[in-house]
Amino acid sequence: MVVGLTGGIASGKNTVAVMFNDLGAKIIDADKIANDLINAEISGNNIFTKIVSLFGKGILNNSGTIDKKSLADIVFKDRKKLECLNRIMHPEIIRIIKDKIASFRHSAGVRNDSKGVVIINAPLIVEAEAISLVDKLIVVSASIENQIARLRARSSLTKSEACRRIDAQLPIKEKEKFADFVINNNNELEETEKQVKKIWKELCNE
Ligand code: ATP
Repeated sequence: MVVGLTGGIASGKNTVAVMFNDLGAKIIDADKIANDLINAEISGNNIFTKIVSLFGKGILNNSGTIDKKSLADIVFKDRKKLECLNRIMHPEIIRIIKDKIASFRHSAGVRNDSKGVVIINAPLIVEAEAISLVDKLIVVSASIENQIARLRARSSLTKSEACRRIDAQLPIKEKEKFADFVINNNNELEETEKQVKKIWKELCNE
């Protein structure tokens, strides 16, 4: 079974993904795929060239790789630029995710194991219109106040920068409309873990 895990920025997707991983799920991390892709040496594709020609050499750091913070500062100030970046990145990320799903399916077939659960941790499954890739969708929900606090606790973003990053995504409430399961991650982690275990049981019984 292929399960999408999504939600707003800093809502707790990675935290929840680790919990599912501990229970036995295989995880595909879309942010990691994106990070690898923009690194020219790893990707060996033309994503790097496209990004540099669109945003200029000013986004490169001293070692000649893309400085993710500079790129983020540009695109989160200009929605059109963010859309251009997404148009470059999303098809390639989706292609890689499909390859990974196929390879999990192949190895499950070899093991004659039809029970495996693969979770795609991807912030933009709904925005990228990639829901058709998954059998079930889990949305991790947190209040905007918690998103801002958690974002700011792990970065040097100002409150208005944090708000701009939240506004660049579809509101979590809109994502919840597509969800089979919603995890409320506003409280203690033990509360979140209880919900994760309940969903895991249901997924394993499907
Ligand atoms: P991103 O959108 O950047 O990938 P994310 O949705 O994966 O973020 P996490 O990285 O899981 O979110 O969590 C964001 C921050 O909030 C982390 O520092 C994490 O430790 C913290 N956090 C997550 N859940 C809780 C919680 N229930 N209570 C307190 N802090 C939490």
